[in-house]
Amino acid sequence: MLKIENLHAAYGKVEVLHGISLDVPKGKLVTLIGSNGAGKTTTMRSVSGMLKPKSGNISLAGKNITGLDSHKIARAGLAHSPEGRRVFSTMTVMDNLLLGAFPRYTGSRPRGDIDTDLQRAMELFPRLRERRNQQAGTLSGGEQQMLAMARAVMLNPEVILLDEPSMGLAPILVDEVFRILQRLKDEGRTMLLVEQFAAAALAVADYGYVLENGRISVHGPAAQLKNDPAVKAAYLGGG
Ligand code: ATP
Repeated sequence: MLKIENLHAAYGKVEVLHGISLDVPKGKLVTLIGSNGAGKTTTMRSVSGMLKPKSGNISLAGKNITGLDSHKIARAGLAHSPEGRRVFSTMTVMDNLLLGAFPRYTGSRPRGDIDTDLQRAMELFPRLRERRNQQAGTLSGGEQQMLAMARAVMLNPEVILLDEPSMGLAPILVDEVFRILQRLKDEGRTMLLVEQFAAAALAVADYGYVLENGRISVHGPAAQLKNDPAVKAAYLGGG
């Protein structure tokens, strides 16, 4: 569904991704793990059009989306829940969710029923239902993170990119984020997940890639990576 081939990305003259390739098949949850600065966020930003790739190829459902503007990539069916709770803070929770669905009206993909999707999003994120008329900027950090995820779901996308959905959350909310990821997976969503909690990410994912200094060093089924001695030592607390 999402295919990245030989992607190179740079900030100015400094190349950060040195030719990475990865595949996110339909209905699968794939996780990208790696140390700080390995290039995980840069990968996500290159896919969603926030950063123009230097070279390589990115396709979504068979359509070449390399180098397109973000709004065109969103219309093609890619939702990006970025690192760091990007919500429209002066708008209500409900309006943030409706904005998430906006690209469906400007693209050529089937629009589906927004009301049904709103109901489903509220069911998935009950905290947002309770606070639907609240200004998004007054939500707690954890609630804003949930809103960013829910807004991505409202695009009814082909693929959802989730960059550190658990960042900065209290442990109880981290558990909730992983429960929601499991539910999204059970619904058959296709997702690429970047997570600091590599063990938890591998527990919920089907497949994993390890990014080291801008290159994929290992990849394989999540269950296999979890037991890989090198991966364990470097990313899973040695256990
Ligand atoms: P983390 O887990 O810390 O978020 P990451 O794997 O997501 O790390 P990136 O954010 O992709 O890593 O960063 C990869 C490299 O690119 C780092 O060396 C970082 O300093 C550099 N970098 C990121 N953003 C920029 C930018 N806007 N300008 C210049 N360099 C950048």
